[in-house]
Amino acid sequence: MGLFTLCVSGVALASSQGHPQWPLLSYQTSGEQWQIEDAIQAPPESWQSHPQQRVSFGYTQAVYWFRFDLPASQHARVVNIEYPLLDHVDAFFVRNEQVIKHVQVGDKYPFDEREVALQDFVIAVAAAPKQQVYLRVQTTSSLRLPVTVWRLDDYVEARTQADTLSGMYYGLLFCMAVYNLFGFLAAREAGFLSYTGYTIFMGLLMATLDGSGFRYWWPNSVWLQDHAIVLFGSITFFFAAVFTRHLLQVPRYSQRLNRVLSLFQLATVLVFLSGLLLPYNQAIHVLLGFAIIGSVTLLAIGIYLWRQGLMYARIYVLAWGVLLAAIVANSLAYLGILDSGFIQRNAIMMGSAIEVLLLSWVLAVRYTHERNAKLAAQAEALRQAEATQQTQTLLNEQLEENVAERTFELQIALRELQDANNELEQKNREDSLTGLYNRRHFDRQLDVEFRRNYRQNSALSLIMLDVDHFKEINDQYGHIAGDDVLVSLAELLRTRFKRGSDIVARYGGEEFVVILPATDIEGAMVVAEDLQQRIRQQVFKVNQKQPITLTVSMGVAEVKGGAYKTAVQLLKAADEMLYQAKHAGRDKIIAEASPALLLPQQPPPS
Ligand code: GH3
Ligand code: MG
Ligand code: MG
Repeated sequence: MGLFTLCVSGVALASSQGHPQWPLLSYQTSGEQWQIEDAIQAPPESWQSHPQQRVSFGYTQAVYWFRFDLPASQHARVVNIEYPLLDHVDAFFVRNEQVIKHVQVGDKYPFDEREVALQDFVIAVAAAPKQQVYLRVQTTSSLRLPVTVWRLDDYVEARTQADTLSGMYYGLLFCMAVYNLFGFLAAREAGFLSYTGYTIFMGLLMATLDGSGFRYWWPNSVWLQDHAIVLFGSITFFFAAVFTRHLLQVPRYSQRLNRVLSLFQLATVLVFLSGLLLPYNQAIHVLLGFAIIGSVTLLAIGIYLWRQGLMYARIYVLAWGVLLAAIVANSLAYLGILDSGFIQRNAIMMGSAIEVLLLSWVLAVRYTHERNAKLAAQAEALRQAEATQQTQTLLNEQLEENVAERTFELQIALRELQDANNELEQKNREDSLTGLYNRRHFDRQLDVEFRRNYRQNSALSLIMLDVDHFKEINDQYGHIAGDDVLVSLAELLRTRFKRGSDIVARYGGEEFVVILPATDIEGAMVVAEDLQQRIRQQVFKVNQKQPITLTVSMGVAEVKGGAYKTAVQLLKAADEMLYQAKHAGRDKIIAEASPALLLPQQPPPS
């Protein structure tokens, strides 16, 4: 916007200053071999007058002669040819058919040889009477000859303003180049770097076109001045393609367009090579041809992606459009269709400045958008990660809770199982009818006590008891009544051996056994007799009413000092005594003391 205001004030200044004269030019095309004398001698009717102020013959190798009248003046003046690409211009100032001054200008001569060191060709003319000016022009560039005649002070003023404007323009390009270079260094985005390249070479190209490059940068390199347009032009297009690819993210949107861009870049390399290898008048045609196709291609890519909905493409198209419009306006001005010296001088510069600003803007906008999108994506990813974490924690808590619950249930189940097991074990060693220990438990316990006795080297006694004539009770009162009697007898046994370590078990049928640990035969006899006494006195009731009494026979055996090797031997001994008691008439107790140990003590088998 600031630039636009400045340009407008530039226009205002330009219109307030003194105007240049546009001399009416006549020209000759048949003066290939002429010296200046031939031109002076040529008949006036052989000169063709040129209808327009701005002479433009396009690309031609031919030698052109021009002439115009320079009216008398009391002021110092300058003749200005505002087209710095002409190769050779011989200016002859003639009065009375005599050459009074000959100046050679053109960009085929080193810059230092110029009489007036400005980027345009400027020839100073002192205050003088009327004279004629002859110009011999030969160039490989397009033959344009915008000749103006100024009063010196007007020219200085106009020149200063033009230089200020172009200074601003180059300053702008320089800033954009540096700014985007910093952008690249900070963000490592190739888009910024390619744009820096584009801006620099655009500036060099413009500096070539307006002569300031030759003036300031390569005043002694006629070669570079000759090749600069094609070389810089091709590099500018190269960077434009790279930049377009990055800015519009072409590979993401269309592989086909991306290939077009690659071809485009290849073409810029070929144009560059043609600039190095071909003569200027051929290379410039290659560049111009490519420039037309290339500009349209870039614009078309922009328009295509715009229509695909890519926001940046809109500004991109606008930027290219402005530059192309400026180039078209400039061409129209040169063709005389638009009659404006201002457009002719400044249109491309302004168009390019606006383009450069717009592109830099869109580049920054795109980068910001992309960065914001990236940040948003990161934030979203973080949020999701946190959510996942939370879910995980929740799940873990639930899991822990479930595990605790299950563990608790398991513990309860285990306890129940343990209880059931205990009960089962209890049942396992219990006789179901009498509730005394059963045979299995007795066997185990006898074994245990036998070993313990052996270790402690004390006495262990065993009573085996059998009810006398029990069969008769069964026969007389029935089996159920027999069972009741057995239950009552068991109760009596349990009561008699309520305390201590004695173990009472039902051995089977109506036979019972009592293990008496740490008891010798005498002690066992006391216990057996007491038991016999109690049983004799006990009145058993059968079928709930009929009282009966019982007698029992008992066999008592003892072991001590390791006399028996196994518990079974002790059991056999008790059984033998029981058998003898029965034989002796029943209701008897027969006991046998432990046999004496004759052999040295042997450990029982484990
Ligand atoms: P003795 O011992 O004096 O020689 O005569 P006994 O009649 O007791 O003869 P024996 O010991 O040979 O017979 C045991 C009888 O005890 C046989 C059976 O009828 C009875 N008996 C065995 N077990 C049970 C039982 O669990 N319940 C009942 N009701 N009777 C049983
Ligand atoms: Mg029996
Ligand atoms: Mg019996």
